[in-house]
Amino acid sequence: MNNDEVKTWLKNHQHPLTDKLVSLEETFWLNPNLQSFKTAIVNCPLTLNDVLEAEARLERFAPYIAKVFPETQETKGIIESPLVKIPKMQENLVQVYKQEILGELWLKCDSHLPISGSIKARGGIYEVLKKAEELAINHQMLKIEDDYSILASDEFRTFFSQYAIAVGSTGNLGLSIGIMSAKLGFKVTVHMSADAKQWKKDLLRSKNVKVIEYASDYSKAVEEGRRQAEADPACHFIDDENSRDLFLGYAVAAIRLKKQLDQSGVTVDEEHPLFVYLPCGVGGGPGGVAFGLKLIFHDHVHCFFAEPTHSPCMLLGLMTGLHDKIAVQDLGIDNKTAADGLAVGRPSGFVGKVLEPFLSGNYTISDEQMYKLLKNLADTENIYLEPSALAGMVGPVKLCKEGTDYLQKHQLLNIAAKGTHIVWATGGSMVPKDEMDNFYQKG
Ligand SMILES: *Cc1c(COP(=O)(O)O)cnc(C)c1O
Repeated sequence: MNNDEVKTWLKNHQHPLTDKLVSLEETFWLNPNLQSFKTAIVNCPLTLNDVLEAEARLERFAPYIAKVFPETQETKGIIESPLVKIPKMQENLVQVYKQEILGELWLKCDSHLPISGSIKARGGIYEVLKKAEELAINHQMLKIEDDYSILASDEFRTFFSQYAIAVGSTGNLGLSIGIMSAKLGFKVTVHMSADAKQWKKDLLRSKNVKVIEYASDYSKAVEEGRRQAEADPACHFIDDENSRDLFLGYAVAAIRLKKQLDQSGVTVDEEHPLFVYLPCGVGGGPGGVAFGLKLIFHDHVHCFFAEPTHSPCMLLGLMTGLHDKIAVQDLGIDNKTAADGLAVGRPSGFVGKVLEPFLSGNYTISDEQMYKLLKNLADTENIYLEPSALAGMVGPVKLCKEGTDYLQKHQLLNIAAKGTHIVWATGGSMVPKDEMDNFYQKG
């Protein structure tokens, strides 16, 4: 739809939240299209088997990863992040927001994933590895029974150098894909939106990644990247807006989280609900993780997406049912936010449609709140995240304050106190110190 068609459409379809979104007020939205897991999975184009296949592929690559990224030796080449309890931050939230939080608060520290320090080290790296495996197997250079550490050789690097990888990004996806592709030997181009931070571009250039900068936002960087890549048959474009592989790479997180919860003695079942809060940009990262969690925990897990008040693209797409046919700019919302990882104006249609029956809800948070939460988390738990990664932190407050209808409807009011809240911390450990000091000061 063009801009005028969207305007007419909005006039004819009243959505009570549209005014709130336009005035940039924080909102909390419950998804009316949520279905029971049993019903939802029937029409879903992806399955648990797809996720297990992705997990097995990452296992095959583990000996290679351990060899070329020594920081992953401890986990034997498995790129995974800690799950930690954050009771002091929970207390802080209760005091600051004057709201009781039923259940225990945990943080999933994808901010501290090795190699690229953000959730993109899941999907982004996975898709590059999948492409590399496919090329090597098709050229009879590799069998899936092999020890994949053989890929760390000049022979393979020379082979991969005949191929190119390209991606459009607000920063972190470019970082993951750039670092991984360059390590394997691919020629790699990252198309960066205006939001992308200088240090990310510098880091990539230092690794021989070609960085092309755009004065406009994420959607434009992706579009331009896609167009340029199409002209080169040896180039694989990683399509953040539509990629099934990225999505599955993210979904593997759920299988790993299940093991971590078991090890920590955290139960998830009909008496012990799990609530998960995921910062959302175009949707692939949080969508993949949420989908994986639903496959594992079915109706015992409740997933919420968090977006900046200036970039509520997924909320808008889901609420209107228009998905990628509508952008926040169509409502005059500017898509300008300090949460650079979430600065996306148009959501992924693929992710929105897959997630529609699985997602519990979606809320928005102001930049100011993200900065405050950044400071408070640093002060209470000594954990430093980038602004985007704090979007999830206010989720438990919002659910307990504004989501009582949801808790009631799903018979959770009496058991929520025995439940667990996981805030997905999506990035931050690679932010340079002076930049982080600056974030902290703002908070
Ligand atoms: C990319 C990113 C997200 C959101 O992931 P999408 O796939 O764009 O929805 C959240 N937080 C951080 C720090 C990110 O880099």
